[in-house]
Amino acid sequence: MPSWTWYVARKNREHLAKDLKKLKRYGFEGVHLQGDDETMEQAVALAGELDLRIHRWYVTLMNGNKEILEEHPDWYVVSREGRSSAEYPPYVPYYKWLCPNHQGVIDHLEKKMREMASLAGLDGIHLDYIRFPDVILPRGLWKKYDIVQDREYPRYDYCYCDVCRSKFAAEHGVDPLDLPDPAADVAWRQFRYDSITRLVGRLAAVVREHGKKISAAVFPTPAIARKLVRQAWDHWDLDAVFPMMYHNFYEKKIAWLEEAVREGEEALRGRFPLYAGLFVPAILPQEMPDAVRYVAKGEAQGLCLFRYGSMNDKHWKHFLAQ
Ligand SMILES: [Zn+2]
Repeated sequence: MPSWTWYVARKNREHLAKDLKKLKRYGFEGVHLQGDDETMEQAVALAGELDLRIHRWYVTLMNGNKEILEEHPDWYVVSREGRSSAEYPPYVPYYKWLCPNHQGVIDHLEKKMREMASLAGLDGIHLDYIRFPDVILPRGLWKKYDIVQDREYPRYDYCYCDVCRSKFAAEHGVDPLDLPDPAADVAWRQFRYDSITRLVGRLAAVVREHGKKISAAVFPTPAIARKLVRQAWDHWDLDAVFPMMYHNFYEKKIAWLEEAVREGEEALRGRFPLYAGLFVPAILPQEMPDAVRYVAKGEAQGLCLFRYGSMNDKHWKHFLAQ
């Protein structure tokens, strides 16, 4: 099965060369690589020799950059309680998110895409954190955060910044803060889906102008992705999608992979390929062949391992034996 992996680059070039060669030897198709500009240049040169595809793995809307926080606090999403995630990040201190409707954010991200996509030999850009903050966390994480999210609570519901409110009001004649039940309002939900879908379309256009492909890491199924983080990814303009089918986050067994893949494939209807993201730390080495089998039964185009560093020798042995 065509395979990819998410890979966080270390500084050492020896490691990168060794690992990319190993992935090529194991028949991998591509790598989502996180690292600085220098690392990308090195990786792309190596990947060219190896005929391995490199997508630059980019954290898109979650952004704790000091300069942006200081110069553009208005770029950040605001909760239904009226608090900016820049000042009051939900769940964890680093959960500071940019608003997909703010023109400054759009310009900033388009510029980033242009810079990254100008690297010759790079196959594409891989968008991650291309969503709103979780209005509801995956069920398997409630315990970790000591939280119960049986419905949408104002504290975790975004975005009610001035830009989003006035844009929605212009389109629908009502301020979203005045909606009696925002969670139940179809138009307001759709507005949030469309905000992300539209941003992806704009970034895709910039990336493709440079002859590069665009892919994204998303929540596991179209239904879960809409409900938890407002991603209607089956409607996005992508060249490939990599849903993070991390079964343990949803208190599911490995067999769920087949169902999750099938849901995605049915929604996509072949518009672009789906690679099932596997959460290696929750898969025992001897379960690797089962995981691959379920992904294949759901008829995914391929799979993607999260992440390279989590694969131990036993994982590799069982993965390659399938
Ligand atoms: Zn906003």
